[in-house]
Amino acid sequence: MCGIVGYVGRAEAAQILLEGLRRLEYRGYDSAGVAVVDGGNLETRKCAGRIVALARLTKKRPLSGCFGISHTRWATHGKVTDENAHPHFDASGKLALVHNGVIENYQLLKEDLVRNGDTKFRSETDTEVLAHLIGKLYDESCASTVDVYQKKARLLGAVRAALQKVIGTYGIALVHANVPDFMIGARRGSPLVLGVGKGENFLASDVSAIVAYTRDAVYLNDFDVVSVERDKFEIASLGGESGDHPVSKVEFTAEDIKKGDFRHYMLKEIFEQPDTVRDAMRGRLSVEECTAKLGGLNMTPAQLRDVGRIILTGCGTALHAGRIGEYLIERLANIPTEVEYASEFRHRNTPMTPETLVFAISQSGETADTLGALRESRRKGFRTLGICNNVASTIARESDGGVYMHAGPEIGVAATKSFTSQLVILTLIGLLFGRMRNLSTAEGSRIIEALEALPEQIEEVLKLSDQIKAIAKKYADVNGVLFFGRQFNFPIALEGALKMKEITYLFAEGHPSAELKHGIIALVRPDLPSVFIVPDDAVFSKNLNNIEQVKARKGPIISLTSGNGAKQLKEIANEIISLPDAPDCVMPILTVIPLQLLAYHLAVELGRDIDKPRNLAKSVTVE
Ligand code: GLU
Repeated sequence: MCGIVGYVGRAEAAQILLEGLRRLEYRGYDSAGVAVVDGGNLETRKCAGRIVALARLTKKRPLSGCFGISHTRWATHGKVTDENAHPHFDASGKLALVHNGVIENYQLLKEDLVRNGDTKFRSETDTEVLAHLIGKLYDESCASTVDVYQKKARLLGAVRAALQKVIGTYGIALVHANVPDFMIGARRGSPLVLGVGKGENFLASDVSAIVAYTRDAVYLNDFDVVSVERDKFEIASLGGESGDHPVSKVEFTAEDIKKGDFRHYMLKEIFEQPDTVRDAMRGRLSVEECTAKLGGLNMTPAQLRDVGRIILTGCGTALHAGRIGEYLIERLANIPTEVEYASEFRHRNTPMTPETLVFAISQSGETADTLGALRESRRKGFRTLGICNNVASTIARESDGGVYMHAGPEIGVAATKSFTSQLVILTLIGLLFGRMRNLSTAEGSRIIEALEALPEQIEEVLKLSDQIKAIAKKYADVNGVLFFGRQFNFPIALEGALKMKEITYLFAEGHPSAELKHGIIALVRPDLPSVFIVPDDAVFSKNLNNIEQVKARKGPIISLTSGNGAKQLKEIANEIISLPDAPDCVMPILTVIPLQLLAYHLAVELGRDIDKPRNLAKSVTVE
C-alpha cells in the first residue's frame, strides 16, 4: 500500500522515479508526487490522481537533478488532495520526505512541534509531522556545520532521533536540498528495499519499481536505517548496530511484469494459472510415497507428527484460501483446523494448545494485519509458518519456515493466480499431514493424480472465457450478484463475491447454499442473479433444492457444474457453465476461475478500472 521510489546516481532522476512509480501504481493511486534536488534546489511536483496526471505535470514543468524521491499514495490520514500528496516538507521547505504507513502518535508530536513555534503545516497528513520533526532536529544540530560529511552524519542523526519518537509504522525515503547526492531510507512495518546499481542506487517499496535498472537488492529489516549515495550505502539499525544485509538477486525480470498482449494484468494473471498452479506443486509431489514434500516447513517428521491443531490466518482472498484449507486439512488429515481473520487473531485471545501450528497466508508477505498475527503468534512461542509469493518479504523472513507460491509477480489488485497457488499449497499440506496419519496410499495417489491433471483442466476452463463474457454482457445491468456453494465450494462463493465487489463495485455476497432459506432468500428478485457453484459431487442434489427455491422466486440462476450436473440443471438454470471434473477437495481450483472471469468481463462491460479498482490497493501494508 503506497509506493516509494528513491534514486541517487548520475542520470536524470525524474524519469527514473516516474517510471518506478508506474510499476508501483498498483500499491496506491490516490495521488502521486516527486521531488528532485539540483544544485541545492529542491523542486517538487505533486497532485491528486494517477501517475499520468503527475507525468503531465512534470512534462509541463520538467524537473532536473540526479537524486530525488517519489510516492504514489493510498490515503490513510487526510483527504485525497494535492496538498496531502507526498512528498511532504519540513518547516524550512528544504527537506522532502515520502512515507508508507501510519504515524500513530502524530497528533502528540504535532502538538509538541506547535508548542515550540513550528506552525507551518501545509497538509492534514501524519507524514508531514515526521518531516517537520526530522527537519527541526536537523536544524538544531546543524547550525554550525558546513562540512558536507558532517551534514550527512547529522541528517542521519536527526532521522534516527525522530524515529525514536515515532509510534506506528513507516517505510520512508528523504532528501535534503543542502545535502547533495544523499538519500536516507528507514523502515518499520512497511517494506523498503535497496536496489544496488553501478554508480547509482535506489530505494523502493517493492523491487518491481527498480528491476529494469538492477536485479541486486538488499531487503531492509524493521528498524533499519540506510544512507544511500551513488557509489555506496550504509545500513544500521535504529539502535546503531550494523547487522547482516546480504545482496540478493531478484527472481524475476522487467519482462515478467509487462502486460504482454493482455488488456489488463488481471486477465493476464488469470490466464497464467495453468503455469502458476504447476509451479506451486513442482518438485513437491512424491508419487512413490503418495505424499507431498515440503522441506521449507523446517520440521522433522516427529514434529509434523505432533501437530494437533492448525490455525490458518490471513486477510481477504488469502483468508478465503484458508477457509478451503480448513476443509482440506480436516478432511485429509483430521487435524482440527481454525481459520482466523489476521486482524482479529492478533487482538483476541484465541485458545492455543502447545501442539498448535500457525500458517500466515499472504501473497505479498507484507500484509500488515497478517504480519501482526504472525508476530503475535511467534511472541507466544508458537511455530508459525508462512505461505507467501514474495520470497524476500517480511513474513517470509520472520516466519519459522513455510511454502513459497512461485506464482511470479501479481500486479492486478484483485488477486487471482495467488489464490489458486495458495489452494495447491494447502492441498499439499493436507496431503502431507494426512499421509502421516490415516490417509491411505490409494487416497494419496488419487489426490496427486488430481493435482497433476489440473494445469490441463485449467486450460479447458480458460476456453470458457467467451461464454462467460457473453453471460457478463447479458447481465451487465443487474443490481448485484449472490453466490452460493457448499462444502469446499462455500469459500469459493465468498471469493466469487469478493472478486465481484472489488472490480465491478456491485453489491455481492457469498453464502453456503443452505443458508439461503435462513434469511438471504428475502433478497431474491429478477434483477439479482444467483451464481450457484454446484459440481457433480456428494452435495449436488442438496444444492439442487436450493436452486429450485431461488427459481421459484424468479431469481435468475447462473450455474457452474461438472459431470452430469449440466443435464439436471438444463430445465432450471438460466446459464450453465460446464467444468471438467475433479475430486471435491481439488475442485475449488477449477470452480474459482469462471468466477474470476465473470467478475472481470462484467467489470469491463461496466467500464471499470480493472487493475486499479476504486479505493483499493494491493499489498495492504497499513492496519
Ligand atoms: N499515512 C500516510 C498518508 O496518509 C501514508 C499513507 C500511505 O502509506 O500511502 O498520507
